[in-house]
Order: sequence, then C-alpha cells, then structure tokens
Amino acid sequence: MISCSQKKTSESFTAMNTFMTVTLYSSSSKRGETVCYQIQSRVDELEQILSTTLPSSDVFFINHNSNFPASLKPELQTLIDFSKLIYEKTEGAFNPALYPVIREWGFTTGEYKVPSTEKIQELLPHTDFSKLYDDEKIELDFGAVGKGYAADEALLILEENGIKSALLDFGGNIQALGKKPDGSLWKVGIKNPWDGQVACALSVESKAVVTSGGYEKFFEEAVQRYIHIFDPATGRPIQNDLESMTIVCESGKYADALSTALFVMGKDKAIYWWKKQMAEKSFPVFDFILITKEQQLIYSSGLAGFIEPMYQFESVESVMPD
Ligand code: ADP
Ligand code: MG
Repeated sequence: MISCSQKKTSESFTAMNTFMTVTLYSSSSKRGETVCYQIQSRVDELEQILSTTLPSSDVFFINHNSNFPASLKPELQTLIDFSKLIYEKTEGAFNPALYPVIREWGFTTGEYKVPSTEKIQELLPHTDFSKLYDDEKIELDFGAVGKGYAADEALLILEENGIKSALLDFGGNIQALGKKPDGSLWKVGIKNPWDGQVACALSVESKAVVTSGGYEKFFEEAVQRYIHIFDPATGRPIQNDLESMTIVCESGKYADALSTALFVMGKDKAIYWWKKQMAEKSFPVFDFILITKEQQLIYSSGLAGFIEPMYQFESVESVMPD
C-alpha cells in the first residue's frame, strides 16, 4: 500500500483533437504539477510530429510530398514499424494509410459526403500500407494508435519520476499505473453505446483500457449511419455486428491499434483472432470486451472476476482460449 500522505494532482488539457486528463499521486503537489506539465509537453511534442493537419508536422510532410524523407524522427519510425507489425498480423484490418479515403468521406473536415463508387475505387489502390516507401500517393493517419502511443510515453515519464499510482484519460483511452493509493484497483467504466451511461465497470491494475466504437463519431444520410472507422477492404465505414470493442493490455499502443482492428473484424473474426494469438503465444497477452448491436456483452476469460455489468444485456458471456 502506498502511504496516505500522497498528494493527488489532476490536470486537464486539450491535445490530439481531444480532452486529456492526468491524475497522479506524488509526494508533493508541486512535484505532481511538474510531472503533469512534462506529460503535457510530451503529448504536444508527439502531436507536432503526428498531426495530419499541422503543416509543420512530419506526417503532413510525408502526406504532401512525393519523396519519402531519408530519415525519420525516432517516434515516427517507432509508430511506422509498430503499425507495420499490426497491419500484417491483422491482415490489414488495422491500416494507417487510409487517409485519402477517409478525407473523401469528409471525416477530416466535417464536410461529410458519400463518395461515388468510382472515386473510392480510384483511391483504394493508394491505401496499401505495405507500399509505404514505393507509392508516392500514400498518406498516413495515426488516428487509431496515436493516443495510445502518447499514453505509453506519458507512462514512461511517470515511471522516471517515481510515480507509483496514476490514471490517464486521453480522450477515452484509459491508462492506469499501479493501483489506487489506498491499495484498491482502479475502476474504469466502459461506455454504454445506447445511453452514454456505464455499460460495465472494469477493475484494473497497470493496464491500458481502450475502446473503439461507432456511436460517437459518425454522420447520417438517408437513414444510414456512417462511422469514422473504415473497412480497408472496401474503403467504406464499417457496418457490422459490433457497437464497441475494448482492449485491455499493458501497452497503450497495442490496446489502441487492436481496439480499432478487432472492431473492424466484427464479433466472430475478432474472437477467432484473439484465440489464435493466445494459442500461438507470439503476441503480447491481451483481453477484450465486446458489445454487439444485439446487446450481448462478450469478454475474454482473463477479465473474469474483474468485470461487472451495469446494464441489462441480452446475454453476458466469457470466452476462453482454445
Ligand atoms: P478514436 O481514436 O476515435 O477513439 P480509434 O482508435 O478506433 O478511435 O481510431 C479511429 C481513427 O483511426 C479514425 O478517425 C481514422 O482516422 C483512423 N482509422 C479509421 N479506420 C481505420 C483502420 N481500419 N485502421 C487504422 N486507422 C483507421
Ligand atoms: Mg484505436
């Protein structure tokens, strides 16, 4: 148990187009504030590299120039290498090269529209992330992994400063460090897609908890809902049986990238993929919580005992590795 003389510091700021809050416990408020400030600076620094809209960013440069830079900042190289791994492992479900398509649908500007089939077919060949260094038209967008990566970097700062207990909320991406100062687990709420309340509570220690869903960022046209997560195979917003996909694991960037990828896969494929990774043991252990449109709650067995449904689901089920 951490001593009760620990001082709580909580700071919020806006970065990466979202609201972020750092809550930490340290020996003094002054020290806590300094650490919060260091985290904010680091997140700002990452945004300056990864932003698709800041003309001075490294990603903006790649997206607006035909020649690929000879060398990259280490952060960007790390994310590209990591993205390549997840892209390959998920057979392209996670693809950070969809930007031209996503822009065409208006998600970058808010000027939403349903593009013509011809336009999508014209753009799709230039979304092949494996051709990053060969296709001049490739454009990157780390929207599905950047906040998770930023949370990992924030965690390093907390650890360097000897902080043992903290909770980061980076636009709904949660990263818990240690336990609460009283020795109990952090309790994280998974949002109910239908009413914005809590669908289930999850108790965690030193874990990232990241949710992808279609219920927050979308537009509607002719009674059809178009969400901000795309099927890389078709260049169209995902329409499947899921409302949300939450990943729980040690690393923020894994949790973030996988929440998007497993959301793209849909219920059956996501469960199959999880079982496959757990059997092969070549991938970090992770857990999932998925909520279907039919109001089922399904979670991986590693979370048994730590998850508490707060909503009258049609069914609640846990899945074991094979
Ligand atoms: P959010 O960050 O909005 O909570 P996600 O982590 O799921 O949710 O990321 C969604 C963002 O990732 C989209 O706004 C878009 O920029 C990008 N994106 C959409 N579809 C994909 C995909 N299949 N693979 C990788 N990135 C995607
Ligand atoms: Mg994500």
